[in-house]
Amino acid sequence: MRIIMKKIVPFIFAAQIIFVFVSGSFAQPQQQQNQPITVIRAGRFFDSENGVFLPARDIIVKGNLIESVGENLPVPKGATVIDLRKYTVLPGLIDAHTHLLYLENLQGGLTMEGMKALTIEGTPLRALRGAARGKTFLLSGITTVRDLGNSGRFGDVALRIAINEGTVDGPRMYVSGPGLSSEGGQFPGLQYNYKSIADEEYRIIHGADDARSAVRENITFGANCIKIYSNNTPNPTMLSMEEMRAIVEEAHLYRVKVAAHATSDVAVRRAVEAGVDSIEHAYQVSDETLKLMKEKGTALVPTDSDFESFKYFVENSGGTQKLTDEQIKQELKFQQDRLKRALAAGVTIVAGSDMYIDMQRPQGDAAKRVLFAYLESGMTPVQILQAATINAARLFNNPRLGAIKTGTFADIIAVEGNPADDFNAIEKVRFVMKNGKVYMEAK
Ligand SMILES: [Zn+2]
Repeated sequence: MRIIMKKIVPFIFAAQIIFVFVSGSFAQPQQQQNQPITVIRAGRFFDSENGVFLPARDIIVKGNLIESVGENLPVPKGATVIDLRKYTVLPGLIDAHTHLLYLENLQGGLTMEGMKALTIEGTPLRALRGAARGKTFLLSGITTVRDLGNSGRFGDVALRIAINEGTVDGPRMYVSGPGLSSEGGQFPGLQYNYKSIADEEYRIIHGADDARSAVRENITFGANCIKIYSNNTPNPTMLSMEEMRAIVEEAHLYRVKVAAHATSDVAVRRAVEAGVDSIEHAYQVSDETLKLMKEKGTALVPTDSDFESFKYFVENSGGTQKLTDEQIKQELKFQQDRLKRALAAGVTIVAGSDMYIDMQRPQGDAAKRVLFAYLESGMTPVQILQAATINAARLFNNPRLGAIKTGTFADIIAVEGNPADDFNAIEKVRFVMKNGKVYMEAK
């Protein structure tokens, strides 16, 4: 009996899959006919692919996709019209480096706050809090995030599922699961006897074979990107070249992209040589390594601080050191200089905030300040908005993201004013649509 069952069950299962496939594809045109149609009238329109602001455009949204974009389009029968003629309309913004399930007290520090998140907060509560943070990202106009670890064991996957099924409101999520790191993760000072605690927040890698297993493990349990720590600052060690090459090869086999935390020039160079898709931070990167990034098409995600946020951090993080505005500017000069050098080298910039500090304001608003850091480094508004839309979409290899054109997801935001003239407009979000659903209605 059991043997027979074994033979039959896989057959039924396979047959069901075929049925779903076939009926799914045949049912689609009919479904599309019944999908609601919305016409958005945009006063000004950001064409992210060409990097230009265009005058008034109409956008026709059908279901969750954009059907067409043009001038003075006729309103289809039964369509809803949304009037955004007062505003500038942009693709939903993308933040390529978030940690929705981790929020650090300003006066905390990585080890103690990390331990607290693991041992006292716990993954279920982190995911619930992450859900609330996710909503603030959506309402600040960030409709997609790439969440790179520090979420316990797959708390990020749980949050993505809850968002996608509509249980909670939040941005689209790429999630990495636990980041792949050498011993100790990012917990300096951990006692040897308790080193396994790091494995609750990171995936500690022991050799190339284990690295491949870790990639398969993360993908199996729901990750759709891979995060590695070329060097796991502030701890002193690095992943080996063999480990990183194995990770990249394995992830790319499943068409999954690899993001590498790398702060020192050596760590950046090794990760680039191993073939990762993006480098996060790269504070100490040399011109020579930037040249290699340009050659290999490796994107840079500069998780930088703007003046206002850094000043707030300095004044509220409990340190005895008081800095003048001039000193704060000096402190920021180093990261600004490296972003300028990256731009000069022609490296693709993708926006990512890494905003995991509690700035006593909605987390999405705090994260969006990274765009002002880029402005202060001399990037133009168009360059910044491309970094936060089309460049990110290309890094994720998702042609449905980062642009408003036929066939892309209806992820559309509107801001008051013209960001090209006054970038502060980007803080005045007046309308948010994600996947065809309105989350903030225009007044
Ligand atoms: Zn980070």
